Amino acid sequence: MRFHTLTRTACLLLAAALLAVTGTARAAESHPKPSHPAQQLIDRAAAAVRSRPADMVRDAQAALKILADQPNADLEIRARLMLCDHLSEQDRRAAEAEVAKARALLPQATRPGLEAGVLGCEGTILETGSETGRARELYEQAVALATREQDTEMLAQSLYSRGYLLGLQGQYATGLADLKRAQGLYEDINLPDHSLTALNGIAILYNRMGDYAQARYMYDRALKAQRDAGMYREQSVTLHNLGRAHENLHEWDAAQAAFQESYTISRQLNYPRGEAYALRGLAAVKNAKGDPKGALQILDQAQALQRQTPDARLEAQINLARGVALHRLRQLPASAEALKAALVVFQKADSLNELRATYGELAAVLSDMGNWREGYAYLASAQETSERMFRNQVDQRFATLKVEFDTAAKEKENALLVRENNANQLALAQGQRARNLQRVVIALTVALALLLATLAIHQWRSKRRMRTLAMTDELTGVPNRRAVLSRLAPLLQQPNPPNCAMLIIDIDHFKSINDQHGHAEGDEALKLVARELREDVHEPAFIGRLGGEEFVVVIPGADFDKAYRLAERFREGVMSIDTRRWLSDRRITVSIGLTMSRSSGDTPSTMLQRADSALYDAKRAGRNCVKAQLPAPEAEMPAAPLQPARVEFA
Ligand code: GH3
Ligand code: MG
Ligand code: MG
Repeated sequence: MRFHTLTRTACLLLAAALLAVTGTARAAESHPKPSHPAQQLIDRAAAAVRSRPADMVRDAQAALKILADQPNADLEIRARLMLCDHLSEQDRRAAEAEVAKARALLPQATRPGLEAGVLGCEGTILETGSETGRARELYEQAVALATREQDTEMLAQSLYSRGYLLGLQGQYATGLADLKRAQGLYEDINLPDHSLTALNGIAILYNRMGDYAQARYMYDRALKAQRDAGMYREQSVTLHNLGRAHENLHEWDAAQAAFQESYTISRQLNYPRGEAYALRGLAAVKNAKGDPKGALQILDQAQALQRQTPDARLEAQINLARGVALHRLRQLPASAEALKAALVVFQKADSLNELRATYGELAAVLSDMGNWREGYAYLASAQETSERMFRNQVDQRFATLKVEFDTAAKEKENALLVRENNANQLALAQGQRARNLQRVVIALTVALALLLATLAIHQWRSKRRMRTLAMTDELTGVPNRRAVLSRLAPLLQQPNPPNCAMLIIDIDHFKSINDQHGHAEGDEALKLVARELREDVHEPAFIGRLGGEEFVVVIPGADFDKAYRLAERFREGVMSIDTRRWLSDRRITVSIGLTMSRSSGDTPSTMLQRADSALYDAKRAGRNCVKAQLPAPEAEMPAAPLQPARVEFA
């Protein structure tokens, strides 16, 4: 039983060790949370932002319905931010309402980085309303917050917004750095669509910097990817921007083709803002190709669409194109009016390229009107803007080169760090694995040692038990004949053996106890006698059961008198045993045969013979008594006869 318990303990220890090792690995695995029923809709809406805005609106609104019953602040904020972004182009109030609701939910959100999204959309609303200064502040806050919260997606989004606006404000180098970072982050978190949008932003920036050829190349690249990915809304925007690049390069046919396709896609998507931008481009082409009337018609269309999606910069661009067309048509006051309206917006936005064009056109119109003074002032402004732009472009080119160099250097450094980090982690992981293995080995060794120790203890115990069993009389618990004799023999074999007394104690008429009271009572009588005798046997004396109803007691170092007294004590002791419970009024008596050892040459069996003979005497003397038979007096070894005992006469 004990053995099994110990074995089980060892096995348990082993299992615990294995669990400890595998447990550490398993603890690292996280369990995916069951997703919210609105989650899928939100994810689909997010994917559709770039391709089909109408689908995005539908999915986001469906998600909001579900969220009304099963609230989840994070998901609702995301839905409202998508709607805000979309509405910011069409309906400022509605966009503001969405962003306000999103902001109100922030305290319940588990993802703190979402606040950067809220700040971003607030900025977008302001930017669309040409409040670029305040928009920039909000984007700065968004970047700082997303950085602090280590929210990569929100950081990429905030950097994109800030970079785009910086480009708009003529800070190309810093804008480019933001956009490049945004693009890299989107790639890191595997959002290729968003990465493409960032690439598009970079191309727009190159366009603004006056590097139209580079911009055209990037738009072509982005366009191809967007076509492959089926991102229709993005295609319409990129095609428009490509048209702008061609426009700036005076590649009018190519510009027309791009604007035309952008217009077609925007119409299919029911994307009025895209349509309006594309129409403005087509009008500019018409102006360039000498068809101002056609341009005006198109611009009317664009103006009508623009009213659906108020966009101050677009309106200003339409006004610029209208001013150019009206100038060609010699409608000078109307032209000047349109151009001046455009100028206010471009000045506010500090958009140099458009400012220069507007100043130039205004100078020409006013000169044609005979207003030389004002005309000259605008010409001077145009020249000054041109110079500023040129200086800016040169400065920014240098700055851009520096940013590009710094970015490349940083990337290299990062790659090195990543490699170093990977190596460290690998080493750590290997170390951990080695430690785990070590623990397993230790646990196994301990378990094995325990098992072996248990086995050894078990074996030693069972051996001892077997030995005890082999040397003990089962019924009475005293040593058996073999045990007594094997203890006596070495005593007698010593060079100077001690005096040893031996008593054989035999129960009188034992057979009749069995006969009268039964075998079980006979057994009980044997046990009672054994217990009685044992009480008076003290070291160095020892007792044993010879067999049947006979016991033997050996008393080393005792003389005859002491042995005799002890025998008497045994006899009386047995007689005084209270046997009433088993044998009614019958008493037990014993007869005892006593002998002493010879001073040398005696053996257990010779002693037994003499004691047995004495016992026989006791029985014959009427039982319940002690008789002794001492060894014959030890004569000196008879000398060899000098003469033969019998003499033979010849
Ligand atoms: P005596 O006074 O001459 O010694 O007569 P006795 O009856 O004691 O001697 P005998 O040798 O004739 O009988 C011994 C009996 O003891 C015979 C046997 O059945 C019985 N006996 C031997 N071993 C055991 C035992 O372990 N248990 C019991 N109950 N009886 C035993
Ligand atoms: Mg007997
Ligand atoms: Mg007997």
